[in-house]
Amino acid sequence: MEVITKIDEMRTRVLSVKDRKRSIGFVPTMGALHNGHLSLMRRAREENDELVVSIYLNPTQFDKNDDFENYPRQLDKDIEIIRNENADAVFTPCTEEMYPDGFCTHVTQDKLTDALCGRVRPGHFNGVTTIVTKLFNIIEPDRAYFGQKDYQQCAVIKRLVTDMNMDVDIQVCPTVREEDGLAFSSRNKRLNPEERQNALCIYGSLLKAGDMFASDIRETKEIIEEMISIIKKTKHTKIDYISIVNANTLEDLSSINGKALVAVAIWIGNTRLIDNIILE
Ligand code: AMP
Repeated sequence: MEVITKIDEMRTRVLSVKDRKRSIGFVPTMGALHNGHLSLMRRAREENDELVVSIYLNPTQFDKNDDFENYPRQLDKDIEIIRNENADAVFTPCTEEMYPDGFCTHVTQDKLTDALCGRVRPGHFNGVTTIVTKLFNIIEPDRAYFGQKDYQQCAVIKRLVTDMNMDVDIQVCPTVREEDGLAFSSRNKRLNPEERQNALCIYGSLLKAGDMFASDIRETKEIIEEMISIIKKTKHTKIDYISIVNANTLEDLSSINGKALVAVAIWIGNTRLIDNIILE
């Protein structure tokens, strides 16, 4: 497996792969890899001739400096994990490489970025659309793999690819959970044992929404109130948002009559976690 830090070197490799008519499956990550990332890599490995994984902790998508500073970092361990998944290349550029002096072009998107996390994390999705555009231009993947845990990110990237006529097939993979239901997240590494236990209220609240929907309750206000009460019963939690939205437009719903996304962002102590389920 090649470990590549320079854009020029990555491009040279991509050119040679394309010359040999081999398909490229790409998994972008910010490192601190876990089973969720592994599921993306395995799917990409199966469906493509070449697997390229990137590890880049993109500063421009962090709206809070301390979140960026405290984000778990374990580059050497991550490279070994990726090697074990039989990847062909890992791309780990530094920030001077991705945002050299004079950098001043950004990719922005309206509408889908106004909802959910976009509402509470100003600038976050501009950081995402800009870095994903750059990575797609450098790696030229045939397929790129993203996790449903970041549902809004998937929706934004699918829209980006459509609107900007990018020739990349976006694949969304199911959320991978720990045995007790907590979605794998790099930020889980920051939870202490008590917080780890408290974090179960997140999936608990989503399951409750699923149960209510299964019992034919369609009014979103009623479902959200139940979810709020589950979170509030758990110590050291704070609700960033609990929303039920149209799964395509991400617009708030008052009642569910099509494919709906139940999405939550909850602070567990000083760690903000997101999760979601689809109801249809
Ligand atoms: P990140 O390193 O957090 O930027 O995540 C890299 C990719 O892994 C994104 O496409 C995420 O949606 C995906 N991902 C993160 N957590 C999970 C999970 N629990 N299950 C599936 N995919 C995930």
